[in-house]
Amino acid sequence: MSYGSPEAAGVSTRGSGFRTGSSGLSRDLNRVAVLRLIGASGPIARIHIAQRLGLSPATVTSLTRELLERGVVRVADHAPSRGGRPAVLLELVGGAATALGVKIAPDHLVGVLVDLDGEVFERFELKFDATARDSVERLGEVLESWIAEVPPHAPLLGVGLGMPGVVDVERGTVSSPMLGWDGLPLSDVLHKRLGLPVLVDNDVNTLAVSERLYGRGREVENFITVTTGRGVGLGIVTGGDIYHGFGGGAGEFGHVSAVDDGPRCSCGRRGCLEAVIADPALVADARARGVLSNRQGISKLRALANAGDAQAREIFATAGGTLGRAVAGLVNVLSPELVLVSGEGTEAWAYMAEAFDGALRSNIFPPLSGVTVEVDPWDDVKWAIGAAALVLRATFTPHDERQADNSIRAWLLAEPGQVEVVV
Ligand SMILES: [Zn+2]
Repeated sequence: MSYGSPEAAGVSTRGSGFRTGSSGLSRDLNRVAVLRLIGASGPIARIHIAQRLGLSPATVTSLTRELLERGVVRVADHAPSRGGRPAVLLELVGGAATALGVKIAPDHLVGVLVDLDGEVFERFELKFDATARDSVERLGEVLESWIAEVPPHAPLLGVGLGMPGVVDVERGTVSSPMLGWDGLPLSDVLHKRLGLPVLVDNDVNTLAVSERLYGRGREVENFITVTTGRGVGLGIVTGGDIYHGFGGGAGEFGHVSAVDDGPRCSCGRRGCLEAVIADPALVADARARGVLSNRQGISKLRALANAGDAQAREIFATAGGTLGRAVAGLVNVLSPELVLVSGEGTEAWAYMAEAFDGALRSNIFPPLSGVTVEVDPWDDVKWAIGAAALVLRATFTPHDERQADNSIRAWLLAEPGQVEVVV
C-alpha cells in the first residue's frame, strides 16, 4: 500500500500544491521540526527553538508566524526575563487536530476521539463480536459512524487500533488466535475504506504508549507494562520507545512456559503462563474445585474472594505467585526501572499482591532489586487513548520512518489554507 500521496491519505490539495523546490522542501521540513519540538517540549521560547534545532532566529520567527496563523500553535505565556522583553512561550493548540483510537477486544470496542494533547472529547463503547466472519466489514462501519462525530474545525489525522495478538506494525497485518485472525492486512483494508492513515499495534503496546506519553512512563525511559485478565500481555518500552522485535512478536509473555504439561493454551501448546493464570484458567480451576458452577465466571470468583471465600482467595494468590515469578524473569532480562501491572485481572489484586511480591522479590537477581512495581488501576479507555496516541506519536516522532507517517506529515507540511483533510 502507499500512503505517499496526500490524496491517498484522504487529504485533498487546493491551489498550487506543495512547494517542491529544495529551499521550499527544507522550509517544509523545518516547519515540521519546529512543530514537533513545540509538541514534544510544551511551552517553549523561540530562542530555545532556534538553539535546539540549529536554525537562525529569523527563520524560527517566520516559521512560527505561519504556525500561529494556521491556529496550530498559540502563545502560552510570557517567560520572566532578567532585563529586556520577556520571551514569548509557544505551545500547541490541542484542538487543532484529532485522532481516533480504538481498543478491539473479542467482545467489545472502546473508542476515543482525542485532540493533539491527548485530551479525550468523545468516548464510544459498543458490543462487538471480533471473532465473527464479517467482523472487519462491521468494524469499518463502526469506525465510519464514529468518524462522523469529528468536529469540522479539527481534522482527523488518522485512526489507531490496538488489539490482542501479534501485529506487524510495518505491514499493518494482524495475527490473533484470540480473534481468529491470521495475517489479516487490517491497516490496508481499513485505509482503503476510510481514506485515512490506519496505524495498528498490539493492545498492550498501545497501553504502554499511553503510559509513556501521559502516565507514569513519562518519567522513565525503560519500563514494562504487564497485563493480566482475559490473557496475559507485555509491552516493553526501551530507550523511550516500544520494542517490537522481529515481525512484531515481542511481548508474547503470556506464552512463556509456566508449568510442564499444564492446561491447554489458545496457542495450541500446554502450560503457557496465560493458560495458568489468565481469567479463563482461574475459572476452569475454580470449576474443577467446585468453587464455581459451570454457569459462573470470573466476576463470581472475585465476588466470592471479596466475601471471604478461602478457596477463591487461594486461587488468586496462587496466580499472583506464578505471575510474580514470571515478572522476576522479565526484570532479570530487561532491567526496567519500572514495572506497571494492569489489566482487568488486577481487580482481584488484593488477593494476589502478597504472593506476587514474595515470588517477585525472591526471584529477582539481587543487584536489580531496586525496580519499582506499581499496580495501575484497570481502565479500558486508557488502552484506546494509547491507540490514538499511535497516530499522535507518528506525527511528532522524527525517527519513525513508517510510510503511514507521510500522510500525517502531509497535513503538517501544507501551506496554510492549501490543504483540507476530508473526513
Ligand atoms: Zn500459549
